[in-house]
Amino acid sequence: MILHIALPFPLRRHFDYLSVPGCGREELKPGTRISVPFGKKRDCVGLLLDVSDTSDVDPERLKKILKPIDAEPLFDRQHLNLLRWAADYYQYPLGDAIFRTLPAPLRRGKALKRDAVFIWRVTAKGTEPNAAATERAVKQNAILSLLKADPDGLTREELNEHYENWRTPMGALIEKGLVEKVEKTLPPPASTPENIVLNREQKDAVAAVESAFGSDRRFLLYGVTGSGKTEVYIELIKKIIQEGKQAIILVPEIGLTPQFINRLKQRLAAPITVLHSGLSDNERLQGWIDARDGTTSVVLGTRSAIWTPLKRPGIFIIDEEHDPSYKQQDTFRYSARDVAVMRGKLSGVPVVLGSATPSMESMYNALTDKFTRITLSQRTGTARPPQVYIVDLRGQQLTGALSGKLIGAIEENLNNKKQTLLFLNRRGFSPVIMCHLCGWIDKCSRCDVPLTFHKFLDRLVCHHCGSQRPPQTACENCGEPQLIQIGHGTERLADTLRERFPSAHILRIDRDSTRRKGSMEAMVNEITAGEADILVGTQMLAKGHHFPKLTLAGIIDADRGLFSADFRASERMAQLIMQVSGRAGRADDHGTVMIQTHYPNHPLLQTLTRRDYGAFADLLLEERRVTGLPPFSHLALLRAEGFDTAAPARFLRDAGEILMQGSNRLEVLGPVPAPMEKRAGRYRFQLLIQSVDRVLLHKTLRSCTASLETLTSGRKVRWSLDVDPQDML
Ligand code: ADP
Ligand code: ZN
Ligand code: ZN
Repeated sequence: MILHIALPFPLRRHFDYLSVPGCGREELKPGTRISVPFGKKRDCVGLLLDVSDTSDVDPERLKKILKPIDAEPLFDRQHLNLLRWAADYYQYPLGDAIFRTLPAPLRRGKALKRDAVFIWRVTAKGTEPNAAATERAVKQNAILSLLKADPDGLTREELNEHYENWRTPMGALIEKGLVEKVEKTLPPPASTPENIVLNREQKDAVAAVESAFGSDRRFLLYGVTGSGKTEVYIELIKKIIQEGKQAIILVPEIGLTPQFINRLKQRLAAPITVLHSGLSDNERLQGWIDARDGTTSVVLGTRSAIWTPLKRPGIFIIDEEHDPSYKQQDTFRYSARDVAVMRGKLSGVPVVLGSATPSMESMYNALTDKFTRITLSQRTGTARPPQVYIVDLRGQQLTGALSGKLIGAIEENLNNKKQTLLFLNRRGFSPVIMCHLCGWIDKCSRCDVPLTFHKFLDRLVCHHCGSQRPPQTACENCGEPQLIQIGHGTERLADTLRERFPSAHILRIDRDSTRRKGSMEAMVNEITAGEADILVGTQMLAKGHHFPKLTLAGIIDADRGLFSADFRASERMAQLIMQVSGRAGRADDHGTVMIQTHYPNHPLLQTLTRRDYGAFADLLLEERRVTGLPPFSHLALLRAEGFDTAAPARFLRDAGEILMQGSNRLEVLGPVPAPMEKRAGRYRFQLLIQSVDRVLLHKTLRSCTASLETLTSGRKVRWSLDVDPQDML
């Protein structure tokens, strides 16, 4: 009996082992973990793929397994098939792919069982208004008020984030009966779900998907921001739960806000499992097991949650399906959206992709009837679409990054006690530091890109590799102390606004200002309560929030999206503009959007603002058709990087030859230097492989990757293959 075992290494093959006495076919079920010896590693966790009678290797030379780890498979055949499909489609080694989708404790060989996760929370006595430790026990009181603020209690990991030594004061609080340590369970459903009556379009949407329950149909739920897509998801999930089945709902990385989680919890009135990067390994494992065993009905999570096994799959929902964060950008480069679509097909359940600004791929799939398109055309309630203005920046006098027109609108909004959102997708103070005398630019020595000045930190930061250093006082080239800051980031924009509107309360929301845990939530609360006047933010602010007092949205710089080396830049820009616009005037107030640009007549910008996203998509799809870009062709990007320029180029030339031998109907373009040629000290080159025939592309890739691995020119470089690349840089 030969065991085919997948091991967590980036090698495109499985490994054969022999069984040991006492382990027959009964014990050895595909999908169970098995510990095996491998090379110098004496004890390695693998996953059994199959049992057969033959091996490509001489049985004499095969090693024996050590022992099975699981009595039952981690997941069923269907899930294993999904993993096989994904590894094949993305041309990624199966073993590594499988183990990357597992919670860390399972990768390490931990038993498949729930371990109790404990939380500390206030007791009834502790919640009394005057409950406190003695005045001198400062730390105890601090912990007590922290716990009071969160009646659900805090885990060890969460407490560790706030305090270094909390165990002793916590012990004292427990002794006083103010705090208790209890096992964390799925929180009970909220008792009084708000009742919302769906409108006509929403009802039709629900009915259409419901009629497809139990089939593998796919839907594109195309609805403007605020049209009530989330309510449609909620209704569908309720119905799936009634059928005794489970749902997975994915949201983008920055969409998983406490606001959104609480809304879903309340409205669904069902226990839901939330999976995100902030969880401890143990909590993540617990959620995974709850889903696998069917004890939870709903999994809400970001990208990697698509790999959660379900006992009774019922529906897969992808919110904001166009969001780039669904594509993993390193190692196993899968798209969670596309995996969901395939998973729906393999499990015979419907998939719903929702967006106000669908990707060109999904728009095209709806046009060609691969997806059924459902439209929600109306904003709910009395909210009307915002008025959109293009502000021509040509020749205008600017205050910082702001035009007179936008400043006037902000001023008026302030006088009316309304909120303004200014969108600028660039962190820091200024993206370039330049010498005024000789033009020298301070660049990252490892990446060859300008360093961004962060004023608050007083550091220069490379946004590509993360390296930092203090700012220079003089030019490195001419020695003169005449360095100037070019361009505007959110930090600088907030400064400009503070100078211009000294009495306004200005909040900056980006990755830098929200690094501390809970700070995003605190700011969102401040905004919702109407305490902030002007919000300056990156794309973190563009979605998932509902701010009733916000009536003016300004796009500071629309031009970056119009001219980029990445053909998807204009699509992204349009999506961001639409999302930011969607923030304005969601309640009863009319919203206004102002877009600053030097290209007011650009056809894409004109179509987007005069007409709508649908017209924009038609135009952009036509452009893609003419230029033969996705969705009218399919791409794979072979990237290589090395410490000089010769090695990556040579490897890619060799690879290109192999691919062209594989099929003469593929277009192989390059090798060319990557648009960002140097990153973290390595030179980057790429080869673009393109075909209108997806099957042919995959067939060729499949037959060629093994040869790529044996290329001697590949030994001096790091290379990777990105199927359906989202980021061409
Ligand atoms: P989307 O997800 O499309 O942006 P939401 O589902 O968040 O839209 O809905 C926007 C707002 O309208 C939310 O506050 C929601 O509670 C409310 N809403 C949605 N549908 C209805 C409805 N049928 N009746 C009343 N309010 C609704
Ligand atoms: Zn760098
Ligand atoms: Zn100089």
